[in-house]
Amino acid sequence: MSFRPLNVPPVDHHGECRYVHVIGAAVFIDDRPAEDDWSTHFIGIVDEHAWWAVDVPRDIDPSYGAALDLRAFHARAPEHQWLAAGRAVQIVEWARTHRFCGRCGEPTELAPGERAMKCPRCGLLSFPRISPAMITLVTRGEPGPDQEALLARGVQWQVPMYSCLAGFVEPGESLEDAVIREVREEVAITVRHPKYFGSQPWPFPNSLMLGFQAEYESGEIACDPTEIMDAGWYRRDDLPMIPPGISIARKLIDAWVVG
Ligand SMILES: [Zn+2]
Repeated sequence: MSFRPLNVPPVDHHGECRYVHVIGAAVFIDDRPAEDDWSTHFIGIVDEHAWWAVDVPRDIDPSYGAALDLRAFHARAPEHQWLAAGRAVQIVEWARTHRFCGRCGEPTELAPGERAMKCPRCGLLSFPRISPAMITLVTRGEPGPDQEALLARGVQWQVPMYSCLAGFVEPGESLEDAVIREVREEVAITVRHPKYFGSQPWPFPNSLMLGFQAEYESGEIACDPTEIMDAGWYRRDDLPMIPPGISIARKLIDAWVVG
């Protein structure tokens, strides 16, 4: 059960190949290689198999294969295969959207030996983009049964689910500053002592989620109505509906609940 991300196949690899067929942002995986004129990208070694991403053209016949979006795939596959499939989708989508130089408009070429698109005219290199986003579980009170966590419902969520606060890191900002800013912007609460918890690639479409825990310092909850529908303080024994296990938000909440 392993996934080793790589940009080129190892010379000593003689195992079988598997192909992640990427249709839109959905995937299916089998041993059928790409058609001759389709783009492929090496993903890495998964359980001793060499995995390739296949960029399936958008106008493909729907009978080509039964693809699953990455959320559905998560329910069907072990975590390391889900991460590899997420890498496949992100790299294919990056290649699709970097066919021309962002500076001079020239068609780009794959740079030899690295995961980059290179402009043959001006030399601009474009690498796959990862957008860091932080997600924070804020707690209030001393550790113990009376401690509370701040959970919020986003305005765009269809179900009455409550989760940690999240937002993208701004250019020039540290992760710790992003935690403090985002919590203040979304619910008007001041927090202190942001502490790193763990990270999770989040391929919707290209985030890296950075989980933090932080302590309440001051303020009353006042939701930014453009982002947060409702927010509140919850004890471990009185939690609302929380996110499913796929997300680092759930891992943050679970870790706090277990204490
Ligand atoms: Zn250029």
